Amino acid sequence: MQNIEVFYPLLSSPQRVVITTHQKPDGDAMGSSLGLFHFLKCLNHTVTVISPTNWADFLDWMPGTDRVINFEKHKEKALAILDEATVLFCLDFNIFHRTKHLATYLANSNAIKVLIDHHQQPDSPSFDYGISDTAKSSTCEMVYDFIVGAGHENSLTQEIATCLYTGVMTDTGSFRFASTKASVHRMVARLKDTGFDHAEVHNHIYDNFLENRLRFIGFALLNRMQVLYEYNTALMYITRQDLHKYDIKTGDSEGLVNYLLTIKGIKFGAIVIDRDEERKWSFRSKGGFDVNQFARNHFEGGGHANASGGRSSSSIEDTVSHFKEVIKSYINQLQ
Ligand code: 5GP
Ligand code: MN
Repeated sequence: MQNIEVFYPLLSSPQRVVITTHQKPDGDAMGSSLGLFHFLKCLNHTVTVISPTNWADFLDWMPGTDRVINFEKHKEKALAILDEATVLFCLDFNIFHRTKHLATYLANSNAIKVLIDHHQQPDSPSFDYGISDTAKSSTCEMVYDFIVGAGHENSLTQEIATCLYTGVMTDTGSFRFASTKASVHRMVARLKDTGFDHAEVHNHIYDNFLENRLRFIGFALLNRMQVLYEYNTALMYITRQDLHKYDIKTGDSEGLVNYLLTIKGIKFGAIVIDRDEERKWSFRSKGGFDVNQFARNHFEGGGHANASGGRSSSSIEDTVSHFKEVIKSYINQLQ
């Protein structure tokens, strides 16, 4: 993989661009994809964003979401566009299997492949150009760096700013995680110069849910949380009946894991949700406990040192038991 700067000159000739991201895109995945989408359109490239799957309703207001192709819903159309692409941008993931059923098509694409991502252990040989930096707060910050680095700071618009702000806000826990360096605040100041409305972004993302979601959170905190004080760990599990009873959709459970870390002394929070195809884990930690490594070691996952995810194909009861078993060997790191 060559450095992203070597790619910049290719921006001066018209390209047919496809931008893609990880399955079930979050705020950073969607924000970086759409921010780059609006930027490349300003430069007169032909651009399409293809998402491997659907996304949460709380992201559906972002400028350009109506033009994103959901691969699971419109496979033929997506593949026809991918087939014609000259450049493929891969954002907020670094290994093709994170795009689920889209993975083999991406791997086999003849387009020039460009990676922009901040997760650990990238599959660099799969990409022609790119930048992979785990110190970055978000992929949105990296797309901002890409725009500025390519000499197009003056092309920043309110649409681009709205999308990039969304992702940096969600990936930094609203600017509170340690990854929020001075450069993040400088970037936000520059984005604000476009005149975009940041209060509106917070409103869309955090204050736009239905009553059922808040009742579900109350239920889960009361009935589905276990605190393992010996390990400074809090665990939550959500059954399929719970999801059904409260009519929980993609995105409604996002952020639930963060409640676990609000308990004094808790260093490790883990939640597992019984989804249709698999039991999906989210891991969060404070301080030195590396949940990327934990997810890789025990739950076929990965991510960042303080935020990662994983999966299990066994039942919800068995995967919770497995968690309680493997945590035993981390007692020294967690105390
Ligand atoms: P979340 O818990 O919000 O789904 O994910 C937390 C972080 O871990 C995100 O940066 C996400 O991209 C990453 N992540 C989640 N699940 C997986 C996984 O199965 N494999 C890898 N490599 N990363 C994951
Ligand atoms: Mn991200």
